[in-house]
Amino acid sequence: MAKDKPRKALQELLQRPGNQLCADCSAPEPDWASHTLGVFICLNCSGIHRNIPQVSKVKSVRLDSWDDVQVEFMAANGNNVAKARYESKIPPFYYKPTFPDCQLLREQWIRAKYERKEFIYTEKQEPYSAGYREGLLWKRGRDNGQFLSRKFVLSEREGALKYFNKNDAKEPKAIMKIEHLNATFQPSKIGNPHGLQITYLKDNSTRNIFVYHEDGKETVDWFNAIRAARFHYLQVAFPGASDVDLVPKLSRNYLKEGYMEKTGPKQTEGFKKRWFTMDDRRLMYFKDPLDAFARGEVFIGSKENSYKVLEGLPPSTQGNHWQYGITIVTPDRKFLFACETESDQQEWITAFQKVISRPMLPQEYAVEAHFKHKP
Ligand SMILES: [Zn+2]
Repeated sequence: MAKDKPRKALQELLQRPGNQLCADCSAPEPDWASHTLGVFICLNCSGIHRNIPQVSKVKSVRLDSWDDVQVEFMAANGNNVAKARYESKIPPFYYKPTFPDCQLLREQWIRAKYERKEFIYTEKQEPYSAGYREGLLWKRGRDNGQFLSRKFVLSEREGALKYFNKNDAKEPKAIMKIEHLNATFQPSKIGNPHGLQITYLKDNSTRNIFVYHEDGKETVDWFNAIRAARFHYLQVAFPGASDVDLVPKLSRNYLKEGYMEKTGPKQTEGFKKRWFTMDDRRLMYFKDPLDAFARGEVFIGSKENSYKVLEGLPPSTQGNHWQYGITIVTPDRKFLFACETESDQQEWITAFQKVISRPMLPQEYAVEAHFKHKP
Protein backbone atom coordinates (compact mmCIF):
# COMPACT_ATOMS: atom_id res chain seq x y z
CA MET A 1 0.00 0.00 0.00
CA ALA A 2 1.17 3.52 -0.84
CA LYS A 3 0.67 4.67 2.74
CA ASP A 4 3.20 2.14 4.06
CA LYS A 5 5.92 3.15 1.62
CA PRO A 6 7.17 6.26 3.50
CA ARG A 7 7.04 4.38 6.81
CA LYS A 8 9.16 1.57 5.42
CA ALA A 9 11.66 4.04 3.96
CA LEU A 10 11.93 5.78 7.36
CA GLN A 11 12.53 2.46 9.12
CA GLU A 12 15.40 1.84 6.70
CA LEU A 13 16.82 5.30 7.36
CA LEU A 14 16.82 4.56 11.10
CA GLN A 15 19.29 1.73 10.45
CA ARG A 16 21.85 4.06 8.88
CA PRO A 17 24.96 5.00 10.87
CA GLY A 18 24.29 8.02 13.09
CA ASN A 19 20.52 7.54 13.06
CA GLN A 20 20.54 4.73 15.60
CA LEU A 21 21.04 7.16 18.50
CA CYS A 22 19.12 10.36 19.24
CA ALA A 23 20.82 13.28 17.44
CA ASP A 24 20.69 15.40 20.60
CA CYS A 25 21.07 13.18 23.69
CA SER A 26 22.38 9.85 22.28
CA ALA A 27 19.46 7.85 23.67
CA PRO A 28 19.16 4.55 21.78
CA GLU A 29 16.47 3.79 19.19
CA PRO A 30 15.04 7.23 18.45
CA ASP A 31 11.58 7.01 16.91
CA TRP A 32 10.77 10.68 16.46
CA ALA A 33 12.18 13.08 13.89
CA SER A 34 12.42 16.77 13.12
CA HIS A 35 11.39 16.98 9.47
CA THR A 36 12.60 20.59 9.19
CA LEU A 37 16.10 19.88 10.59
CA GLY A 38 16.40 16.35 9.21
CA VAL A 39 17.35 14.62 12.50
CA PHE A 40 16.09 11.49 14.25
CA ILE A 41 15.50 12.13 17.94
CA CYS A 42 14.04 10.48 21.04
CA LEU A 43 10.62 11.19 22.57
CA ASN A 44 12.11 13.44 25.30
CA CYS A 45 14.04 15.60 22.86
CA SER A 46 11.01 15.79 20.54
CA GLY A 47 9.18 17.53 23.41
CA ILE A 48 11.94 20.16 23.55
CA HIS A 49 11.93 20.59 19.76
CA ARG A 50 8.19 21.13 19.86
CA ASN A 51 8.80 24.26 21.96
CA ILE A 52 10.98 25.77 19.19
CA PRO A 53 8.47 25.65 16.30
CA GLN A 54 10.25 28.41 14.37
CA VAL A 55 13.16 26.01 13.66
CA SER A 56 11.86 22.51 14.28
CA LYS A 57 8.73 20.55 13.45
CA VAL A 58 8.51 17.03 14.82
CA LYS A 59 6.68 13.85 13.87
CA SER A 60 6.58 10.33 15.14
CA VAL A 61 8.31 7.93 12.77
CA ARG A 62 5.77 5.20 13.55
CA LEU A 63 2.52 7.02 14.26
CA ASP A 64 2.35 10.08 12.02
CA SER A 65 1.85 10.22 8.28
CA TRP A 66 4.76 11.34 6.11
CA ASP A 67 4.83 12.47 2.51
CA ASP A 68 7.54 11.61 0.00
CA VAL A 69 9.17 15.06 0.06
CA GLN A 70 9.63 14.85 3.84
CA VAL A 71 11.11 11.36 3.63
CA GLU A 72 13.49 12.48 0.88
CA PHE A 73 14.59 15.38 3.07
CA MET A 74 15.30 12.95 5.95
CA ALA A 75 17.28 10.72 3.56
CA ALA A 76 19.34 13.65 2.27
CA ASN A 77 20.11 14.81 5.83
CA GLY A 78 20.05 12.51 8.87
CA ASN A 79 21.99 12.73 12.14
CA ASN A 80 25.54 12.65 10.75
CA VAL A 81 24.91 15.38 8.18
CA ALA A 82 23.18 17.56 10.79
CA LYS A 83 26.01 17.00 13.23
CA ALA A 84 28.58 18.16 10.68
CA ARG A 85 26.55 21.33 10.22
CA TYR A 86 25.19 22.22 13.69
CA GLU A 87 28.05 20.89 15.85
CA SER A 88 30.98 21.89 13.66
CA LYS A 89 32.57 24.38 16.10
CA ILE A 90 31.87 23.15 19.62
CA PRO A 91 34.60 24.35 21.99
CA PRO A 92 36.32 21.37 23.69
CA PHE A 93 35.23 22.50 27.17
CA TYR A 94 31.53 22.83 26.24
CA TYR A 95 29.36 20.30 28.07
CA LYS A 96 27.44 18.10 25.65
CA PRO A 97 24.59 16.57 27.65
CA THR A 98 23.23 13.07 27.17
CA PHE A 99 19.92 11.51 28.17
CA PRO A 100 20.62 11.12 31.92
CA ASP A 101 21.31 14.87 32.27
CA CYS A 102 18.77 17.34 33.62
CA GLN A 103 16.08 18.92 31.44
CA LEU A 104 17.73 22.38 31.53
CA LEU A 105 21.04 21.12 30.10
CA ARG A 106 19.32 19.13 27.37
CA GLU A 107 16.99 21.98 26.43
CA GLN A 108 19.73 24.62 26.27
CA TRP A 109 21.94 22.30 24.22
CA ILE A 110 19.16 21.85 21.64
CA ARG A 111 18.44 25.61 21.59
CA ALA A 112 22.17 26.42 21.33
CA LYS A 113 22.55 24.07 18.37
CA TYR A 114 19.52 24.80 16.21
CA GLU A 115 17.92 28.02 17.46
CA ARG A 116 20.98 30.15 18.29
CA LYS A 117 23.39 28.23 16.00
CA GLU A 118 26.17 28.76 18.55
CA PHE A 119 28.37 26.05 17.05
CA ILE A 120 28.23 27.48 13.54
CA TYR A 121 28.97 31.11 14.52
CA THR A 122 31.76 31.18 17.12
CA GLU A 123 31.11 34.85 18.03
CA LYS A 124 27.95 33.58 19.76
CA GLN A 125 30.16 31.66 22.20
CA GLU A 126 31.50 34.79 23.85
CA PRO A 127 29.31 34.54 26.98
CA TYR A 128 31.30 31.46 28.05
CA SER A 129 34.54 31.62 26.08
CA ALA A 130 35.76 35.17 26.73
CA GLY A 131 37.65 34.28 29.93
CA TYR A 132 35.69 36.86 31.91
CA ARG A 133 32.08 36.94 32.96
CA GLU A 134 30.15 39.00 35.44
CA GLY A 135 26.51 39.16 36.34
CA LEU A 136 23.86 38.58 38.96
CA LEU A 137 22.82 35.20 40.24
CA TRP A 138 20.31 34.22 42.92
CA LYS A 139 22.35 32.72 45.75
CA ARG A 140 20.87 30.76 48.61
CA GLY A 141 21.52 32.46 51.95
CA ARG A 142 23.47 30.38 54.45
CA ASP A 143 21.25 31.04 57.44
CA ASN A 144 17.66 31.47 56.32
CA GLY A 145 17.70 29.63 53.00
CA GLN A 146 16.33 32.61 51.08
CA PHE A 147 17.72 33.31 47.63
CA LEU A 148 19.29 36.77 47.30
CA SER A 149 20.67 38.52 44.21
CA ARG A 150 24.47 38.57 44.27
CA LYS A 151 27.09 39.84 41.84
CA PHE A 152 29.45 37.14 40.56
CA VAL A 153 32.71 37.72 38.69
CA LEU A 154 34.61 34.93 36.94
CA SER A 155 38.12 35.88 35.85
CA GLU A 156 40.52 33.48 34.19
CA ARG A 157 43.32 36.01 34.57
CA GLU A 158 42.81 36.13 38.33
CA GLY A 159 42.16 32.40 38.47
CA ALA A 160 39.05 32.90 40.57
CA LEU A 161 35.28 33.12 40.81
CA LYS A 162 34.18 35.78 43.31
CA TYR A 163 30.89 37.00 44.62
CA PHE A 164 29.92 40.23 46.33
CA ASN A 165 27.21 40.82 48.91
CA LYS A 166 26.65 44.36 47.66
CA ASN A 167 26.80 45.51 44.06
CA ASP A 168 29.28 48.31 44.85
CA ALA A 169 31.30 46.34 47.43
CA LYS A 170 35.06 46.47 46.95
CA GLU A 171 35.82 43.28 48.84
CA PRO A 172 34.32 40.02 47.66
CA LYS A 173 32.44 37.87 50.15
CA ALA A 174 34.22 34.78 48.81
CA ILE A 175 37.08 34.06 46.44
CA MET A 176 36.82 30.61 44.90
CA LYS A 177 39.94 29.42 43.12
CA ILE A 178 39.37 28.01 39.65
CA GLU A 179 41.85 25.27 40.54
CA HIS A 180 39.38 23.69 43.00
CA LEU A 181 36.09 24.82 41.51
CA ASN A 182 33.31 22.41 40.59
CA ALA A 183 29.79 23.03 39.30
CA THR A 184 27.01 20.48 39.04
CA PHE A 185 23.31 20.86 38.29
CA GLN A 186 21.10 19.85 41.24
CA PRO A 187 17.54 20.85 40.33
CA SER A 188 15.70 18.54 42.73
CA LYS A 189 17.99 19.10 45.72
CA ILE A 190 17.90 22.88 45.32
CA GLY A 191 14.20 22.88 44.41
CA ASN A 192 14.69 24.96 41.25
CA PRO A 193 14.88 23.61 37.67
CA HIS A 194 17.94 25.86 37.07
CA GLY A 195 19.61 25.06 40.41
CA LEU A 196 23.42 24.86 40.22
CA GLN A 197 25.67 23.71 43.06
CA ILE A 198 29.13 25.29 43.06
CA THR A 199 31.80 23.83 45.33
CA TYR A 200 35.28 24.99 46.20
CA LEU A 201 37.90 24.24 48.79
CA LYS A 202 38.58 26.52 51.71
CA ASP A 203 41.30 25.42 54.14
CA ASN A 204 41.10 22.06 52.37
CA SER A 205 37.44 21.57 53.28
CA THR A 206 34.62 21.59 50.78
CA ARG A 207 32.30 24.62 50.70
CA ASN A 208 28.98 24.67 48.86
CA ILE A 209 27.01 27.49 47.37
CA PHE A 210 23.67 27.11 45.58
CA VAL A 211 22.72 29.46 42.77
CA TYR A 212 20.42 29.88 39.78
CA HIS A 213 19.44 32.40 37.15
CA GLU A 214 15.79 32.65 36.09
CA ASP A 215 16.97 32.56 32.47
CA GLY A 216 18.01 29.03 31.48
CA LYS A 217 20.57 30.20 28.93
CA GLU A 218 22.30 32.43 31.50
CA THR A 219 22.52 29.55 33.97
CA VAL A 220 24.03 27.17 31.42
CA ASP A 221 26.37 29.93 30.16
CA TRP A 222 27.73 30.30 33.72
CA PHE A 223 28.25 26.55 33.90
CA ASN A 224 30.17 26.47 30.62
CA ALA A 225 32.13 29.61 31.54
CA ILE A 226 33.33 27.81 34.68
CA ARG A 227 34.27 24.77 32.57
CA ALA A 228 36.13 27.04 30.10
CA ALA A 229 38.07 28.68 32.94
CA ARG A 230 38.97 25.26 34.37
CA PHE A 231 40.02 24.05 30.92
CA HIS A 232 42.42 26.94 30.44
CA TYR A 233 43.73 26.61 33.99
CA LEU A 234 44.43 22.88 33.44
CA GLN A 235 46.07 23.52 30.05
CA VAL A 236 48.59 25.75 31.82
CA ALA A 237 48.98 23.42 34.82
CA PHE A 238 49.48 20.31 32.66
CA PRO A 239 51.22 21.43 29.48
CA GLY A 240 51.21 18.66 26.90
CA ALA A 241 48.07 16.99 28.27
CA SER A 242 45.54 16.32 25.55
CA ASP A 243 41.98 17.65 25.48
CA VAL A 244 40.76 14.07 25.99
CA ASP A 245 42.65 13.95 29.31
CA LEU A 246 41.53 17.38 30.51
CA VAL A 247 37.86 17.50 29.51
CA PRO A 248 36.69 14.87 32.07
CA LYS A 249 38.31 16.99 34.82
CA LEU A 250 36.35 20.19 34.08
CA SER A 251 33.32 19.40 36.24
CA ARG A 252 32.07 16.37 38.14
CA ASN A 253 28.69 15.00 38.98
CA TYR A 254 28.48 13.19 42.29
CA LEU A 255 28.76 9.40 42.34
CA LYS A 256 25.87 9.24 44.79
CA GLU A 257 23.93 11.36 47.26
CA GLY A 258 21.31 10.60 49.87
CA TYR A 259 20.51 9.95 53.49
CA MET A 260 22.29 7.35 55.61
CA GLU A 261 22.66 6.96 59.36
CA LYS A 262 26.12 7.11 60.90
CA THR A 263 27.68 6.53 64.27
CA GLY A 264 30.73 8.25 65.75
CA PRO A 265 34.34 7.05 66.10
CA LYS A 266 33.68 5.07 69.31
CA GLN A 267 30.71 3.45 67.61
CA THR A 268 28.67 3.70 70.79
CA GLU A 269 27.33 7.22 70.15
CA GLY A 270 24.04 6.18 68.59
CA PHE A 271 23.19 6.50 64.93
CA LYS A 272 22.26 9.87 63.45
CA LYS A 273 20.61 10.54 60.10
CA ARG A 274 22.83 12.63 57.82
CA TRP A 275 22.89 13.68 54.16
CA PHE A 276 25.87 12.08 52.37
CA THR A 277 27.57 13.14 49.17
CA MET A 278 30.14 10.98 47.40
CA ASP A 279 32.30 13.34 45.33
CA ASP A 280 34.99 11.25 43.70
CA ARG A 281 37.05 10.02 46.70
CA ARG A 282 35.50 12.45 49.19
CA LEU A 283 32.60 11.15 51.23
CA MET A 284 31.02 14.18 52.93
CA TYR A 285 28.16 14.35 55.36
CA PHE A 286 25.83 17.22 56.16
CA LYS A 287 23.06 17.82 58.62
CA ASP A 288 20.98 19.37 55.82
CA PRO A 289 21.46 18.66 52.08
CA LEU A 290 21.90 22.42 51.46
CA ASP A 291 24.43 23.13 54.21
CA ALA A 292 27.31 25.40 53.25
CA PHE A 293 29.92 23.00 54.54
CA ALA A 294 30.26 19.39 55.56
CA ARG A 295 30.19 18.21 59.18
CA GLY A 296 32.83 15.73 58.20
CA GLU A 297 34.70 14.32 55.24
CA VAL A 298 36.12 10.83 54.82
CA PHE A 299 38.75 9.98 52.24
CA ILE A 300 38.06 6.73 50.38
CA GLY A 301 41.27 5.28 48.97
CA SER A 302 41.84 2.10 46.98
CA LYS A 303 41.95 -1.60 47.82
CA GLU A 304 45.74 -1.61 47.33
CA ASN A 305 45.87 0.76 50.30
CA SER A 306 43.65 -1.38 52.57
CA TYR A 307 40.34 0.37 51.95
CA LYS A 308 37.36 -1.96 51.86
CA VAL A 309 33.58 -1.79 51.75
CA LEU A 310 31.55 -4.56 53.41
CA GLU A 311 27.86 -5.27 53.45
CA GLY A 312 26.41 -5.21 56.98
CA LEU A 313 27.66 -4.03 60.37
CA PRO A 314 29.86 -5.76 62.96
CA PRO A 315 27.76 -8.00 65.29
CA SER A 316 28.74 -5.88 68.29
CA THR A 317 27.08 -2.75 66.85
CA GLN A 318 24.80 -1.07 69.39
CA GLY A 319 21.85 1.27 69.19
CA ASN A 320 18.82 1.63 66.97
CA HIS A 321 19.54 2.10 63.33
CA TRP A 322 18.20 1.45 59.85
CA GLN A 323 18.32 -2.16 58.78
CA TYR A 324 20.78 -2.18 55.86
CA GLY A 325 24.31 -1.67 57.12
CA ILE A 326 27.55 -0.78 55.37
CA THR A 327 31.03 -0.95 56.92
CA ILE A 328 33.88 1.01 55.38
CA VAL A 329 37.31 -0.13 56.45
CA THR A 330 40.13 2.41 56.16
CA PRO A 331 43.75 1.99 57.35
CA ASP A 332 42.85 3.93 60.53
CA ARG A 333 39.36 2.89 61.53
CA LYS A 334 36.00 1.53 60.51
CA PHE A 335 33.04 3.69 59.52
CA LEU A 336 29.56 2.29 60.10
CA PHE A 337 26.58 3.41 58.04
CA ALA A 338 22.98 2.26 57.81
CA CYS A 339 20.57 2.65 54.88
CA GLU A 340 16.80 2.70 54.97
CA THR A 341 16.31 0.36 52.01
CA GLU A 342 18.22 -2.48 50.44
CA SER A 343 18.40 -0.70 47.07
CA ASP A 344 19.99 2.33 48.77
CA GLN A 345 22.52 0.04 50.43
CA GLN A 346 23.40 -1.62 47.11
CA GLU A 347 23.74 1.73 45.31
CA TRP A 348 26.07 3.07 48.00
CA ILE A 349 28.16 -0.11 47.94
CA THR A 350 28.45 0.18 44.15
CA ALA A 351 29.57 3.82 44.47
CA PHE A 352 32.19 2.95 47.13
CA GLN A 353 33.46 -0.03 45.14
CA LYS A 354 33.88 2.16 42.09
CA VAL A 355 36.52 4.32 43.79
CA ILE A 356 38.03 1.55 45.93
CA SER A 357 38.69 -0.63 42.88
CA ARG A 358 40.50 2.24 41.11
CA PRO A 359 44.20 2.62 41.97
CA MET A 360 45.13 5.93 43.57
CA LEU A 361 46.81 8.65 41.50
CA PRO A 362 50.01 10.26 42.84
CA GLN A 363 48.18 13.51 43.70
CA GLU A 364 45.51 11.54 45.59
CA TYR A 365 48.13 10.36 48.10
CA ALA A 366 48.66 14.01 49.00
CA VAL A 367 44.92 14.45 49.56
CA GLU A 368 44.82 11.30 51.70
CA ALA A 369 47.76 12.52 53.79
CA HIS A 370 45.95 15.78 54.40
CA PHE A 371 42.84 13.99 55.64
CA LYS A 372 44.98 12.01 58.10
CA HIS A 373 46.28 15.18 59.69
CA LYS A 374 42.84 16.61 60.18
CA PRO A 375 41.81 17.10 63.80
ZN1 LIG B 1 17.16 12.64 22.88
